Amino acid sequence: MLFTYNDITKDVVEKPDVCIIGSGAGGAVMADVLSGAGLDVVVLEEGGYYTKDRYSTYKPAIAMKILYRDYGATIAFGKNPIMLPLGRAVGGTTVINSGTCFRTPDNVLSDWAERYGVENASSKEMEPYFQQVEKTINVMPVSPQVLGKNGLIFKRGADALGMSNGMLMHNMINCHGCGRCAFGCPHDAKQAVHLNFIPSAIRNGARVYANARAEKITVESNRVTRIEGSIINEQTGNKLFKLTVSPKLLVLAAGSIYTPYILEKNNINLSPELGKNLTIHPAVRITAMFDEIIQGYKGVPQGSYVDAYSSEGIILEGIFVPPEIGLPILAPIGMKNKEIASLYDHLAAFGVMVSDKNSYGRVKVGVDGRPFITYHFDPYDFKKLVKGIAIASEIFFAAGAKTVNPAIYGIKEFTGPDDVAQLFTKKIGITSVEMMAFHPLGTARMGELKSHTVVNSFGKTHGLENLFISDGSIFPTSLGVNPQITIMSFSLRNAQYIVENKEKFLNHD
Ligand SMILES: Cc1cc2nc3c(=O)[nH]c(=O)nc-3n(C[C@H](O)[C@H](O)[C@H](O)COP(=O)(O)OP(=O)(O)OC[C@H]3O[C@@H](n4cnc5c(N)ncnc54)[C@H](O)[C@@H]3O)c2cc1C
Ligand code: SF4
Repeated sequence: MLFTYNDITKDVVEKPDVCIIGSGAGGAVMADVLSGAGLDVVVLEEGGYYTKDRYSTYKPAIAMKILYRDYGATIAFGKNPIMLPLGRAVGGTTVINSGTCFRTPDNVLSDWAERYGVENASSKEMEPYFQQVEKTINVMPVSPQVLGKNGLIFKRGADALGMSNGMLMHNMINCHGCGRCAFGCPHDAKQAVHLNFIPSAIRNGARVYANARAEKITVESNRVTRIEGSIINEQTGNKLFKLTVSPKLLVLAAGSIYTPYILEKNNINLSPELGKNLTIHPAVRITAMFDEIIQGYKGVPQGSYVDAYSSEGIILEGIFVPPEIGLPILAPIGMKNKEIASLYDHLAAFGVMVSDKNSYGRVKVGVDGRPFITYHFDPYDFKKLVKGIAIASEIFFAAGAKTVNPAIYGIKEFTGPDDVAQLFTKKIGITSVEMMAFHPLGTARMGELKSHTVVNSFGKTHGLENLFISDGSIFPTSLGVNPQITIMSFSLRNAQYIVENKEKFLNHD
């Protein structure tokens, strides 16, 4: 059953085998596998439940209010504040993500084994989990019919320069190419986890509570014994009813920001590493003006990519938002805003994303009681970002752009490919680049090296007997690629580990 705040009329008391906090990429898969194995499962999700029937009529700005945490304005503080939006809904961030699917790179998996002692996670061992996840969420290449001109133009430029590129793999069925992936797919074409793993878990008997926030976790004699929280009115944010869940096992899947936050807030100090080692894949959006009409808001926004520099930790992926979101970001007020508005149909945009090799961040409980995120962007990684901006600019010019905006304060729009060289001759400070990031990972990393990790190779916390973590926080390093397949595949593998060892983890003598 799925319950929203509308269905609940009194305090909720549950005594399941397993409670899962969070219903995103990690939590949904856990819920499906554990309930499928006959365990009694309760899922608590702070966000609401939405499918095309509810959000297809919402404009993007309204969707941001409803489907994102803090209207999408979560920020990682450092030399330069970095926007780090998070989803909040049944289905978590998969409801508002771009749908791009990559498996975990082989070198990343072997690095985890070597440096953190992660066991049984070689690419060969992960293969069946990748396959099963990809089948469930219907991963396929974006077809040229729905790619849209923004993706085609960039591909054209990369082809002209002989740079390796291609169509991205997406989880989709019958995509209409309407360009709204980041605001909830109005056709339910994007196969976010609320359309597959969650319904399957419900069919298996799981009880999924939307608008249900977990707040307090009680630990007694090394075991989680109780989770307390509130049923929230989705419209007002007011608390309606109390929620008490006493499970045999708790799986925390609240995402890489909220998982360490909830634990610290409850004084569950599993390891000195908890909340540290945050990686985010810093990114920047480069825009270009063309004579030709592009209408970048039509087509799959993140349909194509350039991986020519992926061995250096630089990847370029499509990005485009509708005018009501894009215009205030590109030029908030004045004549420039008017000019860009009148030329929006001629605008193209592409994203540059880098892996965080030396950069790291941290999540802590802030003085206001909310999560406080900090991020140190290391100059080595920043250099990669600047190189990525140069590559994207060159690709745009090769595709026929009139001007390219490198999104760096103090550097004028480029009017030709010769202008790109200044990215390497001028001093560019970290504070001058307008950055964003979409992939927080690593704040409760896994491995057998207990002094360096928070959970073991299968997500069980080193400290507590019946607490698992199953979301983006368990990955020891940056992936260099979009993480949803990695999160779902590890969640599937770790759920099977729980099932195989259920006597040990669920029964307490
Ligand atoms: C705009 C955007 C685009 C993206 N595009 C892609 C992409 O194309 N491909 C890709 O691979 N990745 C993409 N990502 C990232 C990807 O979607 C996430 O990495 C992934 O969903 C994270 O999974 P998770 O399980 O760690 O957390 P989430 O999916 O974020 O789920 C965590 C859930 O826990 C809930 N929660 C938190 N605290 C509580 C609490 N106290 N009580 C109850 N519930 C709670 C949250 O509301 C949330 O729903 C994108 C992200 C963004 C923001
Ligand atoms: S382009 Fe439109 S139809 Fe296709 S997945 Fe994105 S939102 Fe859904």
